[in-house]
Amino acid sequence: MAERPYIVGNWKMNGTRSMLSEARAIDRASQRLMKVEVALAPPFTLLHAVHKEVQQIGVGAQDCHPGEDGAFTGDVSASMVLDAGAKFVILGHSERRQAHGEDDALVKAKATAALNAGLRIILCCGESEEIRDAGEAEQFVIDQLKASMPKISGNVGEVLTVAYEPIWAIGTGRTPTADDIGSMHRAIRALLVELYGEETSAAVRILYGGSVNPGNATELLGADEVGGALVGGASLTAESFLGIVLAA
Ligand code: PEP
Repeated sequence: MAERPYIVGNWKMNGTRSMLSEARAIDRASQRLMKVEVALAPPFTLLHAVHKEVQQIGVGAQDCHPGEDGAFTGDVSASMVLDAGAKFVILGHSERRQAHGEDDALVKAKATAALNAGLRIILCCGESEEIRDAGEAEQFVIDQLKASMPKISGNVGEVLTVAYEPIWAIGTGRTPTADDIGSMHRAIRALLVELYGEETSAAVRILYGGSVNPGNATELLGADEVGGALVGGASLTAESFLGIVLAA
């Protein structure tokens, strides 16, 4: 486990202003749990409101457009989410890769735009069940990460977090074994060392995501090279999300 584990809640397309009380409760509890870095990624519509409600936790977006501004109906740029209070953005989530046809080149372009705007990024990667069953998961994830990774200069640990999220584990209640997570995270760590050198890349946290809940968090977070968790469904209530934060 990383020195300061990072637990990030991804609310996806959930939440109206009535959910601000959950964000407040998560924030209040996190003020007493300083050894864990806690963050929430609400939908765009709640970004500013959550940002105004919280003091301790980080707030981020779930996506951004690669362009700076212009005629892109319905899209939101990196500088807009920064202006709304976001400090980071989740990019390359499999739900966007699958439902919005985002390929590695687009994820890389978005990541570059986010970094240029001054946001930190959480770069997601993960294999389908077919790829895992074929024994090709590690090679697939490494290739996906290489192709999605923006150019980063300076202190990579300050701006980059990687989230390994096997697609078949997202929202399904199924999880890889701690051994499988550990071996994937070691492969990702080796790639980071190759790209950024041992010392600089050591500060990059590699999160695990996929059906993390308060009941399995201790085991999953205890896997080798796991620096925290990206949490979907279980981040929607303060009670379950804080159960995971407490396990970290
Ligand atoms: C996610 O989609 O980032 C995720 C990890 O979802 P869940 O925790 O619901 O599996």
